[in-house]
Amino acid sequence: MAGDIDVAIVGGGHNGLVAATYLARAGLSVHVFERRPFTGGAAITEELWPGFKFSTCAHMVHGIQPKIYRDFRLLERGMEVIPRQGIQVLPDGTYFGPKTHDSPRNRALHLTQEEREGQRRYGEFKNTLQGAISPYRLQPPPSLAEVRAKIAGTPAAAVLEKALTTRIYDLQDEFLPDGPLKDRLAYEAGAAGRNPLAFQFAYASLNAVDEATGIKPPNGYVRGGVGVISRLFRESAEEAGVTIHTDHEVQEFLVEGGNVTGIRLANGGEVRSRVVASNLDPKRTFLRLMPEAHLDSGFRKRIEGLVTHVSCYKFLAVISELPQWTAWDGDPDVPSKGAVVISLNRAEMSACYDDLEAGLPPRKPLVSYSIPSAVDDSLTQPGYHTASIWIYAAPGKLRNGTWDDVREQVAEGLIDQITEHAPNFRRSIRDYKLRTPLDLERENGLTDGCIWHIQHIGEHLVWNRPLPEISHYRAPLKGLYLCGAGQHPGGEISGVPGHNAAHEILKDLGQA
Ligand SMILES: Cc1cc2nc3c(=O)[nH]c(=O)nc-3n(C[C@H](O)[C@H](O)[C@H](O)COP(=O)(O)OP(=O)(O)OC[C@H]3O[C@@H](n4cnc5c(N)ncnc54)[C@H](O)[C@@H]3O)c2cc1C
Repeated sequence: MAGDIDVAIVGGGHNGLVAATYLARAGLSVHVFERRPFTGGAAITEELWPGFKFSTCAHMVHGIQPKIYRDFRLLERGMEVIPRQGIQVLPDGTYFGPKTHDSPRNRALHLTQEEREGQRRYGEFKNTLQGAISPYRLQPPPSLAEVRAKIAGTPAAAVLEKALTTRIYDLQDEFLPDGPLKDRLAYEAGAAGRNPLAFQFAYASLNAVDEATGIKPPNGYVRGGVGVISRLFRESAEEAGVTIHTDHEVQEFLVEGGNVTGIRLANGGEVRSRVVASNLDPKRTFLRLMPEAHLDSGFRKRIEGLVTHVSCYKFLAVISELPQWTAWDGDPDVPSKGAVVISLNRAEMSACYDDLEAGLPPRKPLVSYSIPSAVDDSLTQPGYHTASIWIYAAPGKLRNGTWDDVREQVAEGLIDQITEHAPNFRRSIRDYKLRTPLDLERENGLTDGCIWHIQHIGEHLVWNRPLPEISHYRAPLKGLYLCGAGQHPGGEISGVPGHNAAHEILKDLGQA
């Protein structure tokens, strides 16, 4: 098939850049078309106020595989991961903190024998499940039958079957006694949907230990913000010969004879290519860019049914003093340099999810408070810090009105919620910006503000991501591939969907 170029990548998120690089390194002519003035998608760092830099979506990294580090020489090129640990404050004011901090309020040090044993068995269950799935990270997902065959006769076989049929809270009930451990882990179910399948834990295999090297991906802040990663990916792409067009929104795919043969840009231009790879989420790819006439209506309905409505918001603030957490009774550096999670118990998490399903802003969401500037002064100005607060869960769309209508009310409620735990928080705020699900949709191009393109629920993972028939990165129409977070192994900053898609494209072009 003739084309102006070999590959048109739609979207310059980090996965699009990773895919582009592998394809260009194989000798193909590759162009990336990104609608925003800059690349990076949801892995970016922006100067929101002069001298204050914020990673406005993702703010920490934990899922980049050793192979991606190596292939892009990320560490040699200057990426530095600053490890972080933190505390998790429970609804009763006690907390789980580092085991090195001796305090009667530190639940981590005062678990009963029954709790310790339950925790161990519960952790073992999750690790076994992840171990069964993690060998398939850097390749198209296996079928369920393949996984079953591979682990037949091992303890993982029973774990897999249980994970496929048991809801997380039921699993917790089986392993853990009532009390602080269940309060601590209530987020595991609520944050991903109402008590989803335990198979959801398979997702965590993304940052499990790499069998080949024995290395666990670094986990923490990136010095300079996560935008550094996208900059390094972009530099590698350009060095490999990729041409990047920012401010180039793609309007639709060109389809001829049932094949995708290129793209039409919003500016009216057309580009013909042998292959098109979409870095966009599946809903955008198929419901917006694919002309309706070319899509089977049953398939279209299945795409419409993908779960995207669970979103979150971010509160980004310049603060003049570090929060004084009332729960914490140790070295102030611990919560400042790590994250403070203000957690919800099951009842609260469930109420949060009720609000979500009703299309209401959450009255009391889960709050994860980080201060990247406490470990990286390149992000701030003397005398101030940058607070990056992640708030979960929120409906992508509200039942009445839009997120713009309730922005101030939601921000005020959140400031109150945090100030209950850190009385100096409200007065410390110099400037703030609330990034709602609508902002994530409007500015970052994420359908419903869904941060992983589609939810990481058991029903949408591995062989089912995003749907079984397109889980191998190939769309139903020849010539179109999918290389974003909606594909196996999923969202977060990893580069893996981009890596895997590129290798499938190369196979189909006979260049693998
Ligand atoms: C608020 C928030 C917090 C998060 N926190 C973390 C975290 O701490 N750690 C972590 O690892 N991950 C986190 N994530 C998830 C992670 O950032 C994403 O899963 C990941 O960056 C997705 O990368 P991607 O390249 O697949 O897609 P995207 O980053 O979504 O890239 C898609 C690109 O396509 C572009 N685009 C859209 N439509 C068009 C069009 N029509 N034409 C051309 N271009 C188009 C978009 O502008 C975008 O650049 C967070 C995400 C959000 C939103």
